[in-house]
Amino acid sequence: MRIVTSVAAMQRLAKEFKAKNVPIGFVPTMGYLHEGHLSLVKRARDLVGNTGQVVASIYVNPTQFAPTEDLSKYPRDLARDKKLCRDAGVDILFVPSDKEMYPAGYSTYIVEESLSKTMEGASRPTHFRGVMTIVAKLFNIVLPEVAVFGQKDFQQAAVIQKMVTDLNFPLRIVVAPTVRESDGLAMSSRNKYLSPAQREQATILSQSLRYARKAVLKHPVSAAQLKSEVAKLISEKNEARLDYVAFFDPKTLKPAEQVKRGDQIALAVFFGKTRLIDNAKL
Ligand code: AMP
Repeated sequence: MRIVTSVAAMQRLAKEFKAKNVPIGFVPTMGYLHEGHLSLVKRARDLVGNTGQVVASIYVNPTQFAPTEDLSKYPRDLARDKKLCRDAGVDILFVPSDKEMYPAGYSTYIVEESLSKTMEGASRPTHFRGVMTIVAKLFNIVLPEVAVFGQKDFQQAAVIQKMVTDLNFPLRIVVAPTVRESDGLAMSSRNKYLSPAQREQATILSQSLRYARKAVLKHPVSAAQLKSEVAKLISEKNEARLDYVAFFDPKTLKPAEQVKRGDQIALAVFFGKTRLIDNAKL
């Protein structure tokens, strides 16, 4: 596995592979890797085959964190991540510094004005501007044929797909299923922040998804009614504080008034300062 830290070197390598018609599959991450990330690497390998190149990136992108958020405390363990990537068959690990990605005087940002406004975008108003900017930069540096994202961040995948379509990036986005712990908690680098009591109660997210799925199994239910039922379920956990629960069309992200099978649920729940998200198709 090659480790690349400069933008120029990564772009040069990518161009060499392009010239030889070697497809590049790309998995962008913020590191502190878990099985969810590694499932994306496996998917990228399946997509480009053994003769293709799998590139993963590790970069904790400062522009997607608000000043009040956990940028400086975001978990990092590069030595462990390198080993995991090597074992998972990553060909090139791109690990740029802040100076490489945002040199002094940096001033260009990408903003999506529709899908990014609700849910994560409403709770974290500058978040998607940072995500889209860094993902667009990474696409231009890594030059992938295909990039793999996790369903865990459902809205993020939708917003990135929209950017790729709207800005004509010549690549394909593939979205891979959420990998979960055995008790249902979606894997996340942020799970590390949870106290034992919070960790135990954090299963309430996936339980809420199951509750909603069951509720609409036979007939549609009003979104207001279902939201208040999910809120009540979550309020029974003393460590949990609901940020939002949303029901929406999985393609347009338009809120549903009557929630039916096939709609999407997404929710965000705070445990102390730790904010966890999850989502599912009902
Ligand atoms: P992150 O490092 O949290 O920015 O995530 C990097 C990529 O991994 C994103 O595309 C995420 O959606 C994806 N991802 C994170 N957690 C999971 C999970 N539990 N299962 C599948 N993909 C995930």
